[in-house]
Amino acid sequence: MRTVLLGAPGSGKGTQGVVLAKKYKIPQISTGDLLRAAVSAGSELGKKAKSAMDAGALVSDDIVIGLIGERISQDDAQQGYILDGFPRNIPQAKALDLMLSELKQPLQSVVLLDVPFEELMQRLTGRRTCVECGAIYNVHLSPPKVEGHCDDCNGDLFQRADDNEDTIGNRLNVYQEQTSPLVNYYQQQKKLHSLPGRGDVDNITSMVGAIFDSI
Ligand code: ADP
Ligand code: ZN
Repeated sequence: MRTVLLGAPGSGKGTQGVVLAKKYKIPQISTGDLLRAAVSAGSELGKKAKSAMDAGALVSDDIVIGLIGERISQDDAQQGYILDGFPRNIPQAKALDLMLSELKQPLQSVVLLDVPFEELMQRLTGRRTCVECGAIYNVHLSPPKVEGHCDDCNGDLFQRADDNEDTIGNRLNVYQEQTSPLVNYYQQQKKLHSLPGRGDVDNITSMVGAIFDSI
């Protein structure tokens, strides 16, 4: 099952991706996570990516396309994957289509999580992530039971470096200008399914699951 979760920063792609990957036993592949891992590891690639990420800009297409090409060729991705945060502009989408048509394994479905713009800011400024298990909380909308600690594993919660107001503004602009044209792109390919990304998280998971089940 080869799928893409599309949506603005804060639309819930990451949250849904983690849950759906478990349910369908395929990896969630997040370019954001791959890039953050490269930054923490201090690799050459991480050094190149860091300044763009800190500014809320896109990392160069060459870098992310290379990362994705490598990742989808690994063993655990042969039964499919959920792409989260990639593609993020038209050139990336075209590069992905080309890569997958060479493998004769085209994308099957793209799910857009549609969230009103006003809600995104609140979601992003309040977002906290568990260092241990990656669970995502929101101090405004879905706080943990004990402040600063994960409900599931008691791990410490941290705030991502790019979840501050200045950077968030840039990320949302980049989404409007560069990523949102993908909605049309995938609509033309008849692969797009649009869902409201607001409301109960489990309910959204079921709706995305129903789309995945129909592939
Ligand atoms: P969000 O979707 O919440 O902004 P991500 O974790 O997906 O968070 O991405 C964080 C940052 O990583 C982006 O702001 C950007 O700098 C970089 N990044 C992630 N995916 C891509 C991509 N496909 N192309 C270019 N840059 C990317
Ligand atoms: Zn945890």
